[in-house]
Amino acid sequence: MFPKVYYVTPRAGPGFSLIEKLYLLLEKLNLERKIGSGDTVGIKTHFGTIGNTRYLRPIFIRAIVDFVRKLGAQPLVIETCGHGLGNPFSTRTTATGHLEVAKANGFCPETLNAPIVILDGQYGLDFERVSFNGNYIREVFIPRGLKGIDIVIVATHFKGHGITGFGGAIKNVGVGLIAKPGKGFLHFQRKLEVKWRPDICPTCLKCVKICPSNALRFLNEKIQFVEEKCLLCGMCWSAEVCEHRLIRPVLRDAYKVTRMVVENAKAVIEWLGKDNWVFINFVLDVTPECDCVPWADQIIVPDQGIFASYDPVAVDSASYDFVSAASIIKDSVLGKYDGKITPRDDKFSLVTGVDTARVQLEYAEQIGLGRRTYLLEWVLPDAEAEAIRRGEL
Ligand code: SF4
Ligand code: SF4
Repeated sequence: MFPKVYYVTPRAGPGFSLIEKLYLLLEKLNLERKIGSGDTVGIKTHFGTIGNTRYLRPIFIRAIVDFVRKLGAQPLVIETCGHGLGNPFSTRTTATGHLEVAKANGFCPETLNAPIVILDGQYGLDFERVSFNGNYIREVFIPRGLKGIDIVIVATHFKGHGITGFGGAIKNVGVGLIAKPGKGFLHFQRKLEVKWRPDICPTCLKCVKICPSNALRFLNEKIQFVEEKCLLCGMCWSAEVCEHRLIRPVLRDAYKVTRMVVENAKAVIEWLGKDNWVFINFVLDVTPECDCVPWADQIIVPDQGIFASYDPVAVDSASYDFVSAASIIKDSVLGKYDGKITPRDDKFSLVTGVDTARVQLEYAEQIGLGRRTYLLEWVLPDAEAEAIRRGEL
C-alpha cells in the first residue's frame, strides 16, 4: 500500500483561499484519530532569518494552531537553536536571539495564538544523546524539550538548499529538530583547524571559557584542542568569540551531509514514534536557497500548492515531482535554461551543481524512512470545483 499525499492547488478565490484549503487538508488527514483532547502538539516550522523575505507566512502556522485547538489539544510552535554562536539577542543561534528573529518576521505568541518553545535551551546544548545504528551517525542529539510532546506537525516551506538540494520535511526534522552538536556533526568533519598563533592570540581565553565540553584548554602557554571531547557546537569559532578566527571548522562533502540529514530525521522520528508525525509541505515561493540565508532570490518555479501526508518521504517526493514538472521562472537563476529543460531534469541540481536532491530521496527510501511512490489525492473545495466548471480557472 502506497502512502497517501493530499494536495491542494495554489489557486485561490472566493470560498477557497489557501487558508480554507489548508483547513480542508487538515480535515482530510483525520487528525482527530491521532490528536486527542489534552495532547501536546508541537508545530515545527522555520521562522526565516533577518533579511529573508520568502519564508513561510505566519498565518499558515496560525491556521494549524487554531485547528489543533479545535481538537482540544495544546499547540506549541517549536524550533531549535541554529548552529554556532552569535549575538544572543539577534541571531538564531540562541533561544533569545531566535525568538527575536521570529518576532521580527511576524512569529510571536500573539500572532500564532500559541507559545513558541526553543526546544534545546538558550545555547542549543540542552539535549539527550540517543544511540542510532546508522551508516553515518551513531547517535542523535535529541532536544530535551521534545520530551512531553505527543505529536509533531512539521510545517515546511519547500525550497532549494545549497547542500541537500532542497529543504523539505526530511530536512526540517533531520536538521531542524536536533540540538546544536548534531547540526555541527552534520556540516563539519570531527576535526577543527586550530591555527593558534601566539603573535596574534591575545589569550583572551574566550574560546576556553565558552567551550561546553572542555575540548579547548590553555596549557603550557598555548591553546590546545582535544578532538575526542569536541561537540562541534560551533561556539568557539564564532566571530563573537574568536575575533581573530584562529579556530575553523572543516566542511563535509555535500553527499555525506545529505545522508546524515536523512539518518538524523529517521532517528528523531523513531525516537518519538513513527505514528506521531504529520508532514505538511508548502510548495509556495520556491526560492533557490534555504530560509536561513539573509536574502530571498526570485522564485525558480510558480507556486505549486500545499501537500500533506503521514510519510515524510512521500510528501517530499510529491513536492519534488511537482517542482520538476513545473515551468521555470525566466527571471530566476534558472532563466538561462529556458527552453532547454524537461520535467526529467533536476532543477535543484541545476541550481547547486550537485544532485543531492535525488540522493536525499533515494537514501531516505533505502533506509526505510518512507516511500517515494505515493498516491496523490487532489482535495478540491466546492467553490474551486464550481469555478473550474464555469471555466474561470
Ligand atoms: S578566542 Fe581566539 S584570540 Fe581568544 S584565546 Fe581563543 S584562540 Fe586566542
Ligand atoms: S572546541 Fe568543540 S565543543 Fe568546544 S566550543 Fe569549539 S566546537 Fe564547541
